[in-house]
Amino acid sequence: MRYFSTRGGGDTLSFEEAVLTGLAPNGGLYIPERIPQLPANWRSEWKSYTFQELSVAVLSLFISSEEISQAELKSLVEKSYSTFRHPDVTPLKQLGSATYILELFHGPTYAFKDVALQLLGNLFEFFLLRRNAQKGQGAKPEQLTVVGATSGDTGSAAIYGLRNKANISIFILHPKGRVSPIQEAQMTTVTDANVHNIAVKGTFDDCQDIVKALFADKVFNDAYRLGAVNSINWARILAQTVYYFLAYFHIHSQLTETTDFEIQYVVPTGNFGDILAGYYAKQMGLPMGKLVVATNANDILARFWKSGRYEKIDSTAIVDASDPTTPANGASDGKQTSGGVKETYSPAMDILVSSNFERLLWYLANESAEGSNEKDRRQHACAMVDDWMRKVKQDGRMEVPPAVLAAARRDFVAEKVTDDLTLKTIKSYFEGTPSYIADPHTAIGLAAAQIVAPENSANTRQIILSTAHPAKFSEAVSRALEQSAQFNFERDVLPEEFRALSSKEKRIIDVERPEVELVKRVIMQHMDIKNTTPLQEKGSSI
Ligand SMILES: *Cc1c(COP(=O)(O)O)cnc(C)c1O
Repeated sequence: MRYFSTRGGGDTLSFEEAVLTGLAPNGGLYIPERIPQLPANWRSEWKSYTFQELSVAVLSLFISSEEISQAELKSLVEKSYSTFRHPDVTPLKQLGSATYILELFHGPTYAFKDVALQLLGNLFEFFLLRRNAQKGQGAKPEQLTVVGATSGDTGSAAIYGLRNKANISIFILHPKGRVSPIQEAQMTTVTDANVHNIAVKGTFDDCQDIVKALFADKVFNDAYRLGAVNSINWARILAQTVYYFLAYFHIHSQLTETTDFEIQYVVPTGNFGDILAGYYAKQMGLPMGKLVVATNANDILARFWKSGRYEKIDSTAIVDASDPTTPANGASDGKQTSGGVKETYSPAMDILVSSNFERLLWYLANESAEGSNEKDRRQHACAMVDDWMRKVKQDGRMEVPPAVLAAARRDFVAEKVTDDLTLKTIKSYFEGTPSYIADPHTAIGLAAAQIVAPENSANTRQIILSTAHPAKFSEAVSRALEQSAQFNFERDVLPEEFRALSSKEKRIIDVERPEVELVKRVIMQHMDIKNTTPLQEKGSSI
């Protein structure tokens, strides 16, 4: 299987090259040449597979065995999911006659990103070890320096994915004192030698600007082989397809009735990675109804499905600039920050544009692409995507033709959920039977599920993907349940592991001012290269 960029150009890449490259040089995202179809006997063959066995079965459809053998893939998968606390890895829980929760937060950092990042870290290590083993004696080994910025919720998943991995160092910047104590402790108590937490005196935007500047600095980037583990990496999408299958089999094995029903997966969405994995599962042949895109007040996706316009700022909202009490964009929830992103109770979904959406756009474009053969149509689709993304970059908006919107509506519905409804939903599920404490991201999925639930639910089963443990987002959960006398955060939500974090050793590097040069110096010192040493020449590219 080969991969190409959604914006075309260049040669196709192997799985290894696509994973190590991340973002294509022309700004595009890598997608497989074709979406493999499920083997004819998948239902009978896979039905009692464990998460790990399903993972090998699904992943090997996208990875040539010459690149990673079945035995190697099996060992990578087993290593990756041995860090999960639940034997099912992603267990399915029933909440109502037609409502299920797919819990994706049983990994080391209690959030769904672990599912992908545990595997990604092992893939990086596997590829680098193999490349270095093939080099002659005395040759300089290939190394990777992963750099990223976090506002708290997602940095720890990257750190846990890469801790203690050979040939890889990770530097994660966070705004000092501006991440929650639990999230800070989750990151800074990882004391492996290759993990570096940098606390920058500044804001999250400062951290992000520094990281962008580091990547843009070609000399520095080449010398240290900067790498990112952001959500556009193809391996992350692929790893996430597996739980759609697991949930499908789980729900079918539980049911004794013979009535036919349709599964509706509901996915709290930010960068469109989690739900895109569901789209791939669907295209491979996994039976399901429309996928439900659930967004918070940062609703660029919900607006797209309503209008066909993909625009950073809602152009239809009436903003009265003279009235400071009128929130921009008609937002009744979420503080508007300077960058236009609204701060909500579900911060891991606070985005302006949705990076993985470009991959879906490519498939939609391909349906209406013209050309007498597949290659020409593919090129035409790439050209359309390139044009759309150029418009988004230049004008902050673009609009797709009606046929493309119709294609999008065939496989998806989208709903926006306000902060207010998020809190109400947490409360109502806590008070329900069985009582369930949802984190605010999961609550957005639960609320959207209710909005789109068909009147006659006898033929539908809803599976809501739960993306975080409620203890990770204590502020929203506590606020939602503050009136509930029976609720006690410490007793009902806080896991033992979180309690233990506060007494663990921490390692933090303080950077006194939000300046690129200061962060550069930290990276150089820790990579054991003295400031005075001229930057090394570029190695073979990854
Ligand atoms: C990242 C994240 C999401 C959004 O996932 P996408 O793949 O970006 O759509 C939702 N919830 C939590 C808790 C997350 O960390």
